[in-house]
Amino acid sequence: MIDLKFYSPEEEITYAPITNHHIRLFIKRDDLIHPFISGNKWRKLKYNLITAQETHKNHLVTFGGAYSNHVLATAAAGAKFGFKTTAFIRGEEAKNSLLDFCKLFGMQLIFVSRKDYLNKADLHHQHFNNDDSAYFLDEGGFGTDAEKGCREIITELQQEYDHIFCSAGTGATAAGILNGIYLKKQTTQFHLVPALKGGALLQEAIKPLLIADSMYPIHDEYHFGGYAKTQPPLIDFIKDFTSKTGILLDPVYTGKTLFAIKDLASKNYFKKDTSVLMIHTGGLFGILGMLDKF
Ligand SMILES: *Cc1c(COP(=O)(O)O)cnc(C)c1O
Repeated sequence: MIDLKFYSPEEEITYAPITNHHIRLFIKRDDLIHPFISGNKWRKLKYNLITAQETHKNHLVTFGGAYSNHVLATAAAGAKFGFKTTAFIRGEEAKNSLLDFCKLFGMQLIFVSRKDYLNKADLHHQHFNNDDSAYFLDEGGFGTDAEKGCREIITELQQEYDHIFCSAGTGATAAGILNGIYLKKQTTQFHLVPALKGGALLQEAIKPLLIADSMYPIHDEYHFGGYAKTQPPLIDFIKDFTSKTGILLDPVYTGKTLFAIKDLASKNYFKKDTSVLMIHTGGLFGILGMLDKF
């Protein structure tokens, strides 16, 4: 049985730089789901693991960069639910604490050049063509199974919010949230905060996963230089928020998302007394990989 019991409450937060602007701030604590199968990564894996099990594939083969939260989540989930795991890691051989944890969970790592990494289907075919048990799990877990799992973020909510903010890398989580809002017939406004430069393009990736056309703002000016890039104002913000609330944010995704909420609040973007929910998508290793910047 693929089932993980977890706790992901919605917490109301008082943090003066945001809540002094007369909005109510809530955080859905998906970061508490599991230490390694963290945040949206569990949601994106759940139906993939069920599909793999139903099709008798007990070897998860996936892809990611050397700091991929998805790769780590796959390694830990594989160990927990009895799958063998392999990941193709982009770029020359690297060593870091995230990859060390992956190995500890029994994952096999295969380092491939950036050029070879471009064709994932080819890599899978070359290495695992003769392995009937191999299940192709795309980079970041992207796909319809991932989207379906992320709808549950919305079905679990205890109340309806005026605004929901979420970070995006591939956009699968955003697609699930948008579909969840649509299916629950809520009037909540979804907001996308891309973690990478050129985030407006994410709309194209999200669209095929949507049940119905949706309009939502993309706040694409909070990438701080691009994916996995950071700048001192972002680091200072994370330090301040964490020291005042006890909630860790990572500089790759969630730090940028909450920074966007803070910046928009300071520009009176929100109506008085509106409720704003940020989905805390997890990602502790984003901080561990950049501790030298703090
Ligand atoms: C992977 C990840 C995201 C991005 O999710 P997508 O579904 O790829 O958009 C956001 N936040 C954190 C912490 C992540 O690890």
